Amino acid sequence: MYRQKETDDQHCLECGDKLPYGRSDRKFCCGTCKNRYHNRIMRQSRNYKQKVKDILERNYMILDSLRRTTLKNIPLSDLERMGFRLDFFTSCGLSSKRESYMCYDIRYHVTDGVVTSIARISIGSEDGV
Ligand SMILES: [Zn+2]
Repeated sequence: MYRQKETDDQHCLECGDKLPYGRSDRKFCCGTCKNRYHNRIMRQSRNYKQKVKDILERNYMILDSLRRTTLKNIPLSDLERMGFRLDFFTSCGLSSKRESYMCYDIRYHVTDGVVTSIARISIGSEDGV
């Protein structure tokens, strides 16, 4: 459990300095490095989650603006030009035997590269959401 020699060459996960003698499962040279490391991991996680929220928000704005128009079928390529990301949605499933996607409370279908049936669904009325 305890390292015998300095030649074991364990290094701090944060600063890379050689670890002092101690427990073999030690990962950091000091409390400051341990805190910095965990804060960085948490910050990266928060940043990633924020990026996903931003993408979903953009998708929502695009879908919401299109749903207010008289357009019935919109080529996916047009949506992608507006910044829409098909690979981000809040849920998906089958509706009327078609693949249906949700972006929060907006539902849409994608068939052969065309987005159709963009509609706002009142929360709680479908899919038990
Ligand atoms: Zn360190």
